[in-house]
Amino acid sequence: MPSRKFADGEVVMGRWPGSVLYYEVQVTSYDDVAHLYTVKYKDGTELALKESDIRSQSSFKHRKSQSSSNSPSRRSSSRSRSRSRSPGRPAKGRRRSASQSREHKDDKKKIIQETSLALVVLVLFKPSENNTKRYNGESESTEKNDTSCIILEQKLKPDLEIKRVLEQYSLRSRKDDKKTEEIFSEKKTFVAVKPIEKVPSKTKELEFGGRIGTFMLIFLLPATVFYLLLMCKQDDPSLLNFPPLPTLESLWEWRVFGVFLLWFFLQAVFYLLPIGKVVEGLPLSNGRKLQYRINGFYAFILTAAAIGVLLHFQFELHYLYDHFMQFAVSAAAFSLALSIYLYVRSLKAPEEDLAPGGNSGYFIYDFFTGHELNPRIGSFDLKYFCELRPGLIGWVVINLAMLLAEMKIHNLSMPSLSMILVNSFQLLYVVDALWNEEAILTTMDITHDGFGFMLAFGDLVWVPFVYSLQAFYLVGHPTTVTWPVAAAITVLNCLGYYIFRSANSQKNNFRRNPADPKLANLKFIPTATGKGLLVTGWWGFVRHPNYLGDIIMALAWSLPCGFNHILPYFYVIYFICLLVHREARDEHHCKQKYGLAWERYCQRVPYRIFPYIY
Ligand code: NDP
Repeated sequence: MPSRKFADGEVVMGRWPGSVLYYEVQVTSYDDVAHLYTVKYKDGTELALKESDIRSQSSFKHRKSQSSSNSPSRRSSSRSRSRSRSPGRPAKGRRRSASQSREHKDDKKKIIQETSLALVVLVLFKPSENNTKRYNGESESTEKNDTSCIILEQKLKPDLEIKRVLEQYSLRSRKDDKKTEEIFSEKKTFVAVKPIEKVPSKTKELEFGGRIGTFMLIFLLPATVFYLLLMCKQDDPSLLNFPPLPTLESLWEWRVFGVFLLWFFLQAVFYLLPIGKVVEGLPLSNGRKLQYRINGFYAFILTAAAIGVLLHFQFELHYLYDHFMQFAVSAAAFSLALSIYLYVRSLKAPEEDLAPGGNSGYFIYDFFTGHELNPRIGSFDLKYFCELRPGLIGWVVINLAMLLAEMKIHNLSMPSLSMILVNSFQLLYVVDALWNEEAILTTMDITHDGFGFMLAFGDLVWVPFVYSLQAFYLVGHPTTVTWPVAAAITVLNCLGYYIFRSANSQKNNFRRNPADPKLANLKFIPTATGKGLLVTGWWGFVRHPNYLGDIIMALAWSLPCGFNHILPYFYVIYFICLLVHREARDEHHCKQKYGLAWERYCQRVPYRIFPYIY
C-alpha cells in the first residue's frame, strides 16, 4: 500500500478542482482507503484532494521566482505551446517584415488585452471572494485575499484558454469580441462553475447522536408512530391516558400486508411509465449527473382515477381506517426489509456512490442514515421513488379514507368543515410537491443523505401515518369550526403556502439558472464553488424562509382540530423540532461548502427561521 506523502497539519499547495490554480492549504486528514487528503483552504473551504493535486510549497517557490520575472508580454511571447494552440496567432518563427511593425504594435496591444482577460479568468476561478464586490454592483466590505499564494501552473493561453473557460462555465452570452472592461462592468457576472462537491470519504462528524443516537432512533421512531395511533383511537387521547397495549393479532394481517404491497408496486409501475420529461440531477462528486423522470403528478392523476373506479364499484375505502394500525405495521415491516436490502447492497457499491453523510464505517449509523447515496436498480431510483410516491400520495388516500370514515361513522351527508379544511390544505401540499417534483433534486435528501432506514421509514411510514394524524383524530373526535374561524385558518394556510412556495421556487430557479431574467432584481454573494447565495428576496428575509412557510402551514393543519387535546398538535411541534435540527445540519454543511461566504451571508441575514426570534 503506498504511504502518504504529506502529513496532517502540513501546509502545502493544493490544486483547486477543475482549474490550474494552486492555493496554500493545510492538510487536515488522510483517508487510507480512498487515498484522499482532506485539505482546508484559507477561506475555510474543505475539499478532498488526490495526492497528484498536491505539491509541496518548496516546488512552488522555485516556479514562483521564475514566473515573477515574466511580464505578461514576455510570458505570451516566450512560450511556443500557447502560440501553437492559438489559431489567431502567427506561426512560430515567422519572420517579421518592416511592414509588420504596426501589426506588431497591434499584437502587443492584443497581448495586453488578452492578459487582462486571463486575469478576469483568474479572478473568476479564484476560490476566494475578491469578486464579492461585484455582486450586483453592490459594494460590500470584503475579506482581503492572499493573492501571493496564487500560482499559475501553466501560462494562460489567451484565445483558446479564455474561449474554453467561457464555454465551459456557460459565459456564452458574452460575445467573443467583448472587451475586458465590459466583463468587469457586467451587472451580474455569473460563473456557473460545475459544483465542486467533496469526493466521498469517511463521514467523520456523526449526526443524530452518533451510534447510540441512531440505534435508539431505530426503535424510538416506530414506537412513536404506534403510540400516536393508539392514542388517537382512544376516546380520551390526553397524554396521561396511556393506551392499553394491543394484541399481536390486532397488529398484523396478511391481507393488509398484501394490499400495502399492491399499493407500493402499483406506484412503481406508474413511476416506470414513459410519460413526463427526463431531467438531470445535480452533479455527483465524480461530476456525473443522474437522470430522473418527472412523472409524479401523472402518478397522482392515475391514482386518483384508480380510486375513483374503486369507489364507483362500491369499494369501502374506510377499510383503511378500520385496519389503520395493521397498515402502519405492514409499512414499517416493509421499510425495515427495504433498509436491510439497501444496506447489504451498499456494501458492494463503489466508494464514489456512497453518501457523504452515511459513510462512517459504523454499521448502525450507516444503516440508519443510509450508506449508498442513490441506490438504483437499472434506471429505477429507489430513494427518489420513495420520497414522493407511495408515502406522499398514500397520505392523500389515507386522508380521503378518514373523510369517508367520518361520514359513515357519524352518519353525515357531507364531511365536517374541519375535515374539509385538513383534507384540502394537505392535498394542496402534496399536489404542490408533485407538481414541483423537479425541485426535490436539489434538496438535502437527494444530494447529501443516503437511502437507509431514516428515509425509508420516514417516507413509507412516518409521512403517511403521522402526517394524517389530524384527519385520523377528527374521525374519532368531531370538532366544530365556525365559518369565520375557518376563513382565518385558510388565510393562515395560504400565507404559509405563499412563503413556502415562493421561497422554494426562488432558490430552485436560481440554482437551475442564475441568469434567469425573472431573478434579475435579486442580489447574491458569490462563493468559492461558483454558486451564489441569495441575500435579497425571501432568502434575505431569513436563512430558511421555506421552513418558516412550512411551519405556518403545519399550524394551520392542526388548528381545525380545536384545542381539546395536544395530540393533533404533535405534527406542528415535531415539525418545528425537525426543521430546527435540519436547519442546523444544513447550516453546518453550508459552512463547510462556502466558508467565509457563508459567514458573510449569516451576517447579512442574521435570523435562521423566525424573524427577530430565531
Ligand atoms: P432547502 O430547500 O432549504 O435547501 C437548503 C439548501 O439551499 C442549502 O444546502 C444550500 O444548498 C441552498 N441555500 C441555502 N441558502 C441559500 C441562499 N441564500 N441562496 C441560495 N441557495 C441557498 O432544503 P431542504 O431539503 O431541507 O428543504 C426543502 C423543502 O422541503 C423545504 O420547503 C422544507 O420545508 C421541506 N421539507 C419538508 C419536510 C416534511 O416532512 N414536510 C421535511 C424536510 C423538508 P446549495 O447551496 O448546495 O444549493
